[in-house]
Amino acid sequence: MSSNLLIDNFTKLIQEAQSDFANTNNSDDLEKARVKYLGDKSELKAFQKKMGEVTKEEKPAYGKALNEAKQAIEGFFQSAKAQIDEKELNFKLQKEKIDTTLPGLRSNQIGSLHPLTLIAKEIVDIFTKLGFSLVDGPEIETEYYNFTALNTPDNHPARDEQDTFYTDIANHVLLRSQTSPVQVRSIEKYGVPIRIMSHGRVYRNEEVNARKLPFFHQFEILCVEEDINFAHLKWTLQQFLSELFQDDVKIRLRPDFFPFTEPSAEVDAQCPFCKGKGCSTCGGRGWLELLGCGMVDPNVLELAGVDTKKYSGFAAGLGLERFAMLKYGISDIRDFYSGDIRFLKQFA
Ligand SMILES: [Zn+2]
Repeated sequence: MSSNLLIDNFTKLIQEAQSDFANTNNSDDLEKARVKYLGDKSELKAFQKKMGEVTKEEKPAYGKALNEAKQAIEGFFQSAKAQIDEKELNFKLQKEKIDTTLPGLRSNQIGSLHPLTLIAKEIVDIFTKLGFSLVDGPEIETEYYNFTALNTPDNHPARDEQDTFYTDIANHVLLRSQTSPVQVRSIEKYGVPIRIMSHGRVYRNEEVNARKLPFFHQFEILCVEEDINFAHLKWTLQQFLSELFQDDVKIRLRPDFFPFTEPSAEVDAQCPFCKGKGCSTCGGRGWLELLGCGMVDPNVLELAGVDTKKYSGFAAGLGLERFAMLKYGISDIRDFYSGDIRFLKQFA
């Protein structure tokens, strides 16, 4: 066979190899092309084996052409391999790329203050501006502070086990049924003049329904100073309610009875939701019963060691649940304690 003919075949092989390597798109294609053009069963290997058939004179030219073909094909392979390696590396990097500009995952479990905490905070803020200081007292009380010191007669039905939870009846220890014991404790501790507020849980032996639970939260104020009279009480309550409901709330006082105040009154506010016209919140009455108040009974002050010729005072108490229900439009008192996250989330 003429070596020139064989050399023509090299040219054809080089062209085919160039085209095939240029068309490889991934390492699998590349490997197939490598086996085809550089493997043991490749045409190039076959041409190498034909070296023996070539005449002595033609050998140098044949060998040179064979070598050039081999180098050319290896060159195609290397450049195709470089391109594919780069392409595959980029693909891999792209896949593993972290976008540092993406915003972080936001938790949807944002906590919120309980509506009773919210309303207490709001009421405390208002009375702080009116000069009242926040004080605290124990939930487990003695019968003395819960009843006797508050002018409650020995035979008063509130003292009965049917109404009050006793933790130790022999030693007259009970769960406080009102926050008023804090008033007496504070006068004893700080003396007079005094202007305090307190709030917390109180316990009464009630049946559970949409409006009542065996415990609830009271908020209470006490002011004992010289020359304090009923007008101061009325003005203070008017200020408080107007600020809480963000409106000029009209109030009216109806005579009532509490053992530790004399005179005592129940405070109604003109319904801030319908302005007295009547709505579902006020049951069409136009007025809402909001709190109890009165001038502190001199017996209570004297028991606490206050000179009643010089000092007089007023006190008022309200249920935080009732205020939270009004302010936030809550219809069932049990919602406060259900622990239902859907209810609580509304206050986030
Ligand atoms: Zn109304």
